[in-house]
Amino acid sequence: GAAVVIVGAGQAGVQAAESLRAGGFAGPITLLGDEPHGPYHRPPLSKAWLAGEVEAAQLVMRAPAMLAKKHITLRTGVRVQAIDRVAGEVVLAPAEAGGSAERLPYAGLVLATGATPRRLPASAVPGADAPNVLPLRTRADADALAAGLARCVETGLPLVVIGGGFIGLEVAATARKKGVAVTVLEAAPRLLGRVLAPVLSDWYAELHRAHGVTLVLNAQLQRLDVGDDGTAQAAVLADGTRLPCGLVVLGVGVSANDGLAREAGLAVDRGIVVDACGRTADPRIVAAGDCTVRQLADGSLLRLESVQNATEQGKSAAAALLGQDRPFTAVPWFWSDQYDKKLQMAGLSGGADAWAVRGDVASGSGFSVWHFRAGRLLAVDAVNASKEHLLSRKLLEAGVSPTPEQVADGGVDLAGLLA
Ligand code: FAD
Repeated sequence: GAAVVIVGAGQAGVQAAESLRAGGFAGPITLLGDEPHGPYHRPPLSKAWLAGEVEAAQLVMRAPAMLAKKHITLRTGVRVQAIDRVAGEVVLAPAEAGGSAERLPYAGLVLATGATPRRLPASAVPGADAPNVLPLRTRADADALAAGLARCVETGLPLVVIGGGFIGLEVAATARKKGVAVTVLEAAPRLLGRVLAPVLSDWYAELHRAHGVTLVLNAQLQRLDVGDDGTAQAAVLADGTRLPCGLVVLGVGVSANDGLAREAGLAVDRGIVVDACGRTADPRIVAAGDCTVRQLADGSLLRLESVQNATEQGKSAAAALLGQDRPFTAVPWFWSDQYDKKLQMAGLSGGADAWAVRGDVASGSGFSVWHFRAGRLLAVDAVNASKEHLLSRKLLEAGVSPTPEQVADGGVDLAGLLA
């Protein structure tokens, strides 16, 4: 029968496969992944897995046997090198050099290829190609990083984190837990400046400093000094500051894996362009997850990198191949764990012109920051405040805005606004 091929065995790919089955698709489904492992959870890689607090079994997203039960064929260690849209086939990279390229026919194709961490080119930052400068995306990356941290514990040499985004800050928190000295370099004047309100950026800066992190904002990294053994031994800033290190982790963002789509002539713009239902311009090809950018009703493009986005788009993409419209309209949400603090974010805060805080930021207990534009609620960032997070998702979903004054007044029952 008509076969579906899914490229990428991560969050979005697995979701698409299972949603196809749940939606009644009875034809062959082949899930192709280029990593050696079956589907696993990425979020713990910077958190509990890196800290050595969970077993390998807890990383597993879907055991291969579970997929087999649903008649989903999982092939790991296989890389798709091209899409032949005319023939309706994907071309696999030969297993050995000079080998012949296997072709798999598809009636429907799901691109769920994820993203690749950005590297710093050695031409811009000399030394950035040293072997102890590590990215973090895959389980293999996390294991290399864990080994590097273990060496830092032995040698007493610090970790330098380049980039104060979520992944960099989570790695910093995990390294501190292990007793490693940590320096975080952030080029912007505040942490997580594109997503958080200033009050929360400042709070995170304080949190990390209180845990002993050396935090450099407005950091202009000039080079990494490399020793005789080829490894980076210090980060050097434009002002001459020299920060010694035994290990460097890069947290400077990702680029979408949109090369296959681009080479096949599909629209890409820092990601594979899809509509709200996960469709590309080719009716046989859909895409989901970190590899995509979603075209919104006003024509603008939205890039999200989150488990929820991969899951929702995976469901939409499967529905689209079954001829159904399942637009992704859910309120976006995301979380981050650092030390004993759980951040839960709902909505999109871009363009906010006002903020209100609920709870006491200084107290150390839970609080939340509410973002508004022209009086309308846009997004809520809750720290150790799961109740407020869930409530905010309900308010955003219902399109109900409290006023900033109501938010700031702990005596006002915001849930009452939903009645
Ligand atoms: P991926 O999970 O990256 O899966 C894509 C797969 O496709 C990969 O295995 C890739 O190797 C494979 N692939 C690519 N090209 C090919 C090819 N040509 N042939 C075969 N296979 C290919 N999100 C949250 O919401 N909360 C968090 O707390 C959080 N923490 C994170 C921590 C870390 C360290 C990382 C790295 C990510 C975190 N994320 C978090 C983000 C979240 O993990 C991603 O958004 C999600 O995994 C995206 O799923 P995906 O299926 O689109 O891509």
